[in-house]
Amino acid sequence: MAILVTGGAGYIGSHTVIELQNAGYEVVVVDNLVNSSKKSLQRVEQITGKPVPFYQVDILDADALNAIFEKEEIDSCIHFAGLKAVGESVQKPWEYYYNNISGTLVLLDVMRKHHVKNIIFSSSATVYGSPAFVPITEECPKGEITNPYGQTKGMLEQMLIDIQKADPEWNVILLRYFNPIGAHKSGMIGENPNGTPNNLMPYITQVAVGKLKQLGIFGNDYDTHDGTGVRDYIHVVDLAVGHVKALKKIKEKAGLCLYNLGTGQGYSVLDIVKNFEEASGVSIPYEMKPRRAGDIATCYADPSKAFKELGWKAERGIREMCEDSWRWQSKNPNGYEE
Ligand code: NAD
Ligand code: UDP
Repeated sequence: MAILVTGGAGYIGSHTVIELQNAGYEVVVVDNLVNSSKKSLQRVEQITGKPVPFYQVDILDADALNAIFEKEEIDSCIHFAGLKAVGESVQKPWEYYYNNISGTLVLLDVMRKHHVKNIIFSSSATVYGSPAFVPITEECPKGEITNPYGQTKGMLEQMLIDIQKADPEWNVILLRYFNPIGAHKSGMIGENPNGTPNNLMPYITQVAVGKLKQLGIFGNDYDTHDGTGVRDYIHVVDLAVGHVKALKKIKEKAGLCLYNLGTGQGYSVLDIVKNFEEASGVSIPYEMKPRRAGDIATCYADPSKAFKELGWKAERGIREMCEDSWRWQSKNPNGYEE
């Protein structure tokens, strides 16, 4: 039996495929490559020494998905496929709702037609909005979401909750990621954003390789230890391992489960700059800029539920995250492009 990994050529997906294969799972990847390259999967194959069956298919294409379910013996799905750029989602809300919501509805329909009712879904700490309290537990109420990307996460969570409630044969695990950074130790795969990065770590690494001039820090007047925004950065390999643990849980007939995947530790933008400089030996010029619309001061997880119920906790610290981000970027200044 195989695990269908939608969006498996992407940043988190490709790292998860490695951990799944290392744990002995068969995988099948579906990705339309709208935000990724087939090269990531070729490198995964080099790393694990195992083939990665891959279909270049859009999850909106029900016929193509049906054909995959007919051909492959799939028993669970890890669903990463989706558009994820917050700013772009404000400019292109229709595209985000169509791709993320309709795409998932098509996927779920094909799954149920083939009696495959196990799904792990990539959600985000963004659903907490400006969190009612930190550290954020899963009991923290969902907050006001300020962009269409985040809305799709909140809506998809609710859809999956309702579907599982109506048909308890479904096993649904919602994973709320905090801020994934870092890369596989080999430096062969990593985050490869299109155009100018929106997220902090890829921006820093591109400054470090000289592709960008300097980092802009969005706000130094927040109520945090140094005034800059605080987030819970988590190594992408720890996140990937979290999916392997969630898969074990799903096979024990999980029903509906929801977990935060974070480290429990918050770091400010300046903390990250300093750690990155120490890890890479490269200095990162920066200037202070006004706050970015929609940003919050502080966001970090209480990850204890995932530890209690999945036996999972993040193992890799901030220095290692910075070293691994740097290894990937310095070995691949242009990502997967030649
Ligand atoms: P990514 O863009 O690298 O990976 C997503 C993959 O989905 C890409 O390879 C893309 O080509 C594919 N895709 C998009 N639409 C598709 C479609 N219609 N059909 C088939 N494939 C499609 O992003 P990522 O950082 O690896 O994120 C994976 C998931 O985790 C996403 O759902 C994202 O929203 C979620 N998430 C990411 C973060 C983060 O900071 N990276 C945080 C929280 C949640
Ligand atoms: N940030 C920044 N400059 C950038 C990108 C991000 O100062 O070029 C800050 C941002 O304001 C936030 C933190 O870095 O405090 C993490 O931002 P990111 O976009 O990576 O993740 P978010 O938590 O916003 O999803």
